[in-house]
Amino acid sequence: MWIMLNQRLMTVDRLTQWGIEVEKICVMCKREEEIAEHLFIQCNYARRMWDRLLSSIERHTQVPMTWEQFVQWTIMHGKGKRSAAKIVKTVLAEGVYGLWKERNSRIFEHKSRNEEQLVNEIVYITIVGTNHLAVK
Ligand SMILES: [Zn+2]
Repeated sequence: MWIMLNQRLMTVDRLTQWGIEVEKICVMCKREEEIAEHLFIQCNYARRMWDRLLSSIERHTQVPMTWEQFVQWTIMHGKGKRSAAKIVKTVLAEGVYGLWKERNSRIFEHKSRNEEQLVNEIVYITIVGTNHLAVK
């Protein structure tokens, strides 16, 4: 999570900076250039996943569109030790990790899942991880 928030993931824009030739287009939507901000928050796939994921834990808020705002938003919603904050933190971390895993399985294994399958998996992990059965 920390790594992602510092935008240090090996996304295509970074590899390209190092002179490594890669497909620059986002594998999730095949429409925009793949930069971390796009992949994790702006991509249509990511938007749909976050909407679904947040409503599954009954947070009907919108994930912000820019990196700066996303970091602020994460801090705001994950603050404190209460179990609600814990669930938000887990869900955010799993959401980011899920997007990253999905992106990699599309590139390296040519397998893809839709956002519904991804969210179901994340919700399951979150319930098991936090032992919180109030999650729908
Ligand atoms: Zn995309």
